[in-house]
Amino acid sequence: MSSLLEIRGVSVSYGKVEAVRTLDLRVGEKQIVSLIGPNGAGKTTLMAALIGLLPCSGEVFFHGDKLLPHHDVAHRVSLGMALVPESRELFAPMSVEDNLCLGAFSRYRRGDRDYSDARNEVFSLFPRLKERRKQAAGTLSGGERQMLAIGRALMGKPCLLMLDEPSLGLAPRIISEIFSIIEDLRQSGVSILLVEQNARAALKASDYGYVLEVGELVLSGPAAKLAEDPKVIESFLGKRPGIALSPIPLLV
Ligand code: ATP
Repeated sequence: MSSLLEIRGVSVSYGKVEAVRTLDLRVGEKQIVSLIGPNGAGKTTLMAALIGLLPCSGEVFFHGDKLLPHHDVAHRVSLGMALVPESRELFAPMSVEDNLCLGAFSRYRRGDRDYSDARNEVFSLFPRLKERRKQAAGTLSGGERQMLAIGRALMGKPCLLMLDEPSLGLAPRIISEIFSIIEDLRQSGVSILLVEQNARAALKASDYGYVLEVGELVLSGPAAKLAEDPKVIESFLGKRPGIALSPIPLLV
């Protein structure tokens, strides 16, 4: 399968502290790839570097083209990358519709005038956003905010959607809804790089997984195989699914 994203020997530092160390990773076309690991493993840092918010060393290829240090966030978004950060970063006083509109801004600047079509596609994926289109983003529930954050990223028509902890703080039913939408997005041709503490749900949804610990890759493989790996089970999944032994919230 051809690579949409390929990173080779990528390191990211905060001053003298190396948060990600010589990491290799790839995301194929229409693949869902999970990045799991404990707190502080470097998952958010890697995504921030990939979208151009942090400098990194090593090589990053997107659609086979090498990304360069001067390729800023706007450029990477124009190439088809999008990041939904853990903090969602919505414009709280603005309406759902206006937040979506801002997600299309970079395409609008390039001359694309299909805002309404893109918005309607987002509304068909998230009917709840349509119902609340006039409501201020800051008054939405946690699940609705996550839907809006994903919807706003989709307004840029990305081919790679990077999701940082999409299930964070959400009720199990909403988590299931978000994961089913992630699968729908893949079906529509979007590749997903997924950072999740909810390792069970992430591996269940993914084709491939990477396990990071203190900035280093410790395991990788097809997601179904990783979910059976004793080290992954012990560290992230709990010994027996469905009981309180797991340190990770389980998806029903
Ligand atoms: P979590 O699951 O808790 O979100 P993570 O795997 O996403 O963790 P990061 O947030 O990428 O981990 O952090 C990786 C390391 O980099 C941590 O040791 C963290 O303290 C450090 N770090 C993150 N942001 C900064 C920063 N702005 N300045 C200095 N160090 C930072």
